[in-house]
Amino acid sequence: MSFPQLRIGLGLDVHPFSSVEQRPLVLAGVHLEGERGLVGHSDADVVAHAVADALLGAAGLGDLGRHFPDDSPQHLGADSLAILASVKEMVEAKGWRLVNADCTVVAQTPRLSPYLDAMSANLSTLIGAPISLKAASPELLGALGRSEGIACMAVALLVADER
Ligand SMILES: [Zn+2]
Repeated sequence: MSFPQLRIGLGLDVHPFSSVEQRPLVLAGVHLEGERGLVGHSDADVVAHAVADALLGAAGLGDLGRHFPDDSPQHLGADSLAILASVKEMVEAKGWRLVNADCTVVAQTPRLSPYLDAMSANLSTLIGAPISLKAASPELLGALGRSEGIACMAVALLVADER
């Protein structure tokens, strides 16, 4: 019995909250109505970025910044779900497909539990594989605990596409 070719990848992303601009908060493509937004060159979707980074890492394709530079006018205000969709295409072009991914979003505020199912459904539909999402509190510790930003970690498992 041959063992399937598998690759695991890790993604990490952090974005600070915006203090001046009125920006929407978008996490995994879900707009959290009335919440303070994050600063970033794209739409600052920290969850989509962490998942994309995990996918790229597992496929040995480097990090997100290499493919979507944050000084490129092309990606200014970009929809990060579109970025994630292109990353999925890049990974599949290398002969891999996603088995599953799991994410932990670290945020003191806002409370994310009401949104986790919608966020997970968004990503899973886009990628065509189960992507689970969990929220963790930084317990008032450090910059994240002072609600200065949101961080997200993700792991992704790829299998060689034998089709
Ligand atoms: Zn990011």
